[in-house]
Amino acid sequence: MPKFSNQPDFEMRVIVVLCFAMLLSNPVFAQKKSKKMGAKFVLVIHGGAGTILKENMTPEKEKAYMDKLTEALIAGYKVLKDSGTSIQAVQAAIMIMEDSPLFNAGKGSVYTNDERIEMDAAIMDGKTGKAGSVAGVRTVKNPITAAIAVMNRSEHVLLTGEGADAFAKKSGCTIVDTSYFFDLNRLQQLRKVKEQEKAVLDHDGEQGMHTDSSAIEFNVDLNPDKKFGTVGAVALDVHGNLAAGTSTGGMTNKRYGRVGDVPIIGAGTYADNATCAISCTGHGEYFIRNVVAYDVAALMKYKGWSLEKASHHVVMEKLASLKGMGGLIAVDREGNYTMPFNTPGMYRGAIRADGKVEVYIYR
Ligand code: ASP
Repeated sequence: MPKFSNQPDFEMRVIVVLCFAMLLSNPVFAQKKSKKMGAKFVLVIHGGAGTILKENMTPEKEKAYMDKLTEALIAGYKVLKDSGTSIQAVQAAIMIMEDSPLFNAGKGSVYTNDERIEMDAAIMDGKTGKAGSVAGVRTVKNPITAAIAVMNRSEHVLLTGEGADAFAKKSGCTIVDTSYFFDLNRLQQLRKVKEQEKAVLDHDGEQGMHTDSSAIEFNVDLNPDKKFGTVGAVALDVHGNLAAGTSTGGMTNKRYGRVGDVPIIGAGTYADNATCAISCTGHGEYFIRNVVAYDVAALMKYKGWSLEKASHHVVMEKLASLKGMGGLIAVDREGNYTMPFNTPGMYRGAIRADGKVEVYIYR
């Protein structure tokens, strides 16, 4: 009879469903599943800190920044999503910003006192502890690629000037004529600053530095059209490895030959899988003297402080008390990230494995 002939089929189905449910609840299986599904990765970027005020922005400019930051985040996200390394993601994000005249790096670099472009860049691999940087390069289209070449293809950490340009060329980095970097706005910006004979952060304006509770008067140039910024990226990849990279044209009206914090490992750029990855932006001399990036990592390592607490202390208390303007982006090995700055604004953004893009400009 049909009733009896179907009975074994039904029982078999119940048994199969029960077995499957037991398998899913097995801790070993569940752990493997969550590790794969929940593989975390994070990318955080900045496009420079300074006196970036809403009143000096048009909606078009604001949108241009937001769009470019988003493009950089998505470029790095694609790398991380495809199980690429944090180094590759940092490079992808930075190259997008270097190619944009919106930021003070690569194509948008600011001028030195003698009206030249001299760019600095650095990369650090948190897994191996290896690092590479270049200072004062003049012909490398994407200085971050030169820094990576120094890390991967030389036994050195920092190359400068003509030697760095020559090494980049030999390593296959794209080389351009110095005219590629020409920018009339930048030149006008320099000439205006020169009248005051100061070296200034690209995006400083009328107001000074901010601490948690107060705004400190800071003596800087007033250029209402400052619209560029040093760029940086930090990332945690699915393999659990951290990396940090930074690229900049430096500070408008800097002496030729001046080296900022960016290529000084531990000052403007640092990564260590044991603690965090950091990229800084701001008045480089303060970041060098205070070894800012390493200071954050050291507070985590030796005092056991969280990423948030260590970064906040260094930027909002220590640097701020010295009137060292700027900020940083940081990510730790758990994927926590923070973006403190003591200036009115910092171009910044982050993206996690869920693909949600966050971009901000003002406080
Ligand atoms: N830190 C950079 C430098 O001093 C400037 C910047 O972040 O905008 O070269």
